[in-house]
Amino acid sequence: MAYDFDLFVIGAGSGGVRASRIAAGLGARVAVAEEYRTGGTCVIRGCVPKKLMVYASHFSEDFHLAQGFGWNIGDASFNWQTFIARKDAEIDRLNGLYKQTLSGAGVEQINGRATITGPNSVQVGEKDYTAEKILIAVGGWPSMPQISGIEHAISSNEAFHLERQPKHIVVVGGGYIAVEFAGIFHGMGSKVTQLYRGEQILRGFDDDLRNRLNTAMTDKGIDLRLGLNVETIEKTVSGVTLKLTDGTSLSADAVMYATGRKPNTLGLGLESAGVSLAKNGAVMVDDYSRTNVPSIFAVGDVTDRVQLTPVAIKEGHAFAVTEFGGQKQRAYHDAIPTAVFSQPPIGTVGDSEAIAKEKYGELDVYTSDFKPMKHTLGGSDERAFCKLIVDKATDKVVGAHMIGADSAEIIQGIGLAVKAGLTKAQFDQTVAVHPSSAEEFVLMRNPRPAL
Ligand code: FAD
Ligand code: NDP
Repeated sequence: MAYDFDLFVIGAGSGGVRASRIAAGLGARVAVAEEYRTGGTCVIRGCVPKKLMVYASHFSEDFHLAQGFGWNIGDASFNWQTFIARKDAEIDRLNGLYKQTLSGAGVEQINGRATITGPNSVQVGEKDYTAEKILIAVGGWPSMPQISGIEHAISSNEAFHLERQPKHIVVVGGGYIAVEFAGIFHGMGSKVTQLYRGEQILRGFDDDLRNRLNTAMTDKGIDLRLGLNVETIEKTVSGVTLKLTDGTSLSADAVMYATGRKPNTLGLGLESAGVSLAKNGAVMVDDYSRTNVPSIFAVGDVTDRVQLTPVAIKEGHAFAVTEFGGQKQRAYHDAIPTAVFSQPPIGTVGDSEAIAKEKYGELDVYTSDFKPMKHTLGGSDERAFCKLIVDKATDKVVGAHMIGADSAEIIQGIGLAVKAGLTKAQFDQTVAVHPSSAEEFVLMRNPRPAL
């Protein structure tokens, strides 16, 4: 049967754009449907605008540090509207570049929401298309608990476009987005209350990082409350009033929920093609992003493997090369370096101490707690911390963790070493870069056993 396309991709985000571009480059006839804006979550309302907000918010501290180095800073103030307009212009620029890249690669771009109507057919608006292969790359969507008044809460989607900067914002959650936005709003001058239901923020990260980030955020003035959740939200003239699980209430201009993201599969028509979904709606795939239906594949957040842009990109790339380049390739999900753009930021790769202890038993754990050089004259009490987890039996570094300025930049290089399976002895043989914070990773010498 002659199909309209060799590949029909649903979703022009991180995974979908990469897969479309590579498949087209390999000679496939490719179409991609996008219901919102090309670039997807990362470019339009995720990584990129978020990082711009982190930069914007950090100047308040930078101005303070600068005075310790002899700078006279006049009256500095932040203008939300100016920043948002500049940020939006940059996102428009990137959106244009992504579209250009796709047309340059010969990919047909279709605007609109796509639904699957069968193993080889897709509908967008009134139009039907057929394709030999379909790739689901629809990403995820903010998930919020269905409590009374939740319609008055915002998610990260809206946080990028608020008309006015909230004077006081409550952030609910203790994951990546919650800690990043708590830092962003605080740095920009808003009063921030963060509520997390568990014992410590960033569940799953190394405990030393979790504890230290909590201390650093609290020291900066963020009102971080643990073991607490919201029962109801009521709209008021000036914002919202929250009733909390400890019986108290809290009023603020806005409440932002950062309570996870769910796969975007509702109403996608997957049942019509017989595609198997997990309980949370994620498309179930194997190592090669194949679903149970031979013509349908899925990559990125919709598969709920690891919700990170570079992972979605790797999965999309491997899919395209395997299916259209005649070369079997897969994405690996071990030793993925990642950063939390909290303030201070976190960089991490490999196992936390707790997980490594379960996996390997005996460990050598190396830690270094120090004041970054910039803070000596700058007058900040903020400290930095590095940690290496070593499997005692093989001497392999199985986890590397850092909290402190530049840790996102530093962990990329350390990620190479951990992915390559280097030993502690090889770390020791590596010459330090001096003076830097990164050098701590090759200078730690006195191990302790796992706790
Ligand atoms: P997406 O990029 O979400 O793309 C899916 C696309 O599909 C969207 O454009 C959507 O509009 C479209 N779509 C959905 N349904 C349909 C349909 N039926 N028809 C047509 N189009 C459809 N990751 C990092 O690595 N680093 C970070 O710093 C980072 N920061 C983040 C900050 C925030 C606030 C958020 C929310 C996420 C962040 N992430 C970050 C995660 C990252 O954005 C995602 O992992 C990544 O975008 C997933 O790519 P994807 O291709 O799976 O989906
Ligand atoms: P996360 O899964 O990271 O965190 C969700 C948080 O919400 C957890 O603290 C969770 O608590 C809490 N939570 C869940 N349900 C409820 C509830 N009903 N009531 C109260 N709290 C609740 O999701 P995010 O939304 O922060 O981010 C989604 C994903 O996007 C991240 O996991 C990450 O993969 C990606 N991302 C990556 C970034 C980066 O690379 N820098 C930045 C931003 C996002 P508990 O721990 O108890 O389950």
